[in-house]
Amino acid sequence: MPSKVAPSKYKPGTRSYTMSRIRGKETSIERLVRSYLFARGLRFRKNDKRYPGHPDVVLPKWRAMVFVNGCFWHMHEGCAKFSIPKSNVEFWTTKLTRNRQRDQEQGSKLRAMGWRVFTVWECQLDATHRDKTLDELYQAIIDPDCQDESIKAPIQTKE
Ligand SMILES: [Zn+2]
Repeated sequence: MPSKVAPSKYKPGTRSYTMSRIRGKETSIERLVRSYLFARGLRFRKNDKRYPGHPDVVLPKWRAMVFVNGCFWHMHEGCAKFSIPKSNVEFWTTKLTRNRQRDQEQGSKLRAMGWRVFTVWECQLDATHRDKTLDELYQAIIDPDCQDESIKAPIQTKE
């Protein structure tokens, strides 16, 4: 039976400390996306609690939403930044698979409500890729006919 509690081999506080650090990182990529879109003249709501998944950016005028996903927490498949940790494999597999499943369910609900749902990945926002990624996102948002929600900027693939 897979354990649902945090693995006990870590010293108390260590894992949550690491998790908060990783979450903090995610927050800064959200901020990067928001300040870029704002600078290009878009106005939006943040982390709107009325919608499944609390989208990071909600643009009612464009019927568009943006999720900014950390590659680890949202299991970015094929990405160099994502792999299941070597220890406590079962714990992490269960937890991260659940995250991904939730993302997919939330996305379907939002699309059914008539939203275009864009996802931008952490690795698409590194120093090398961010300009292209952000421009592509902006262009997709302001094109109401754009139903293709995948941002094509390259991801860092595994060797
Ligand atoms: Zn990635």
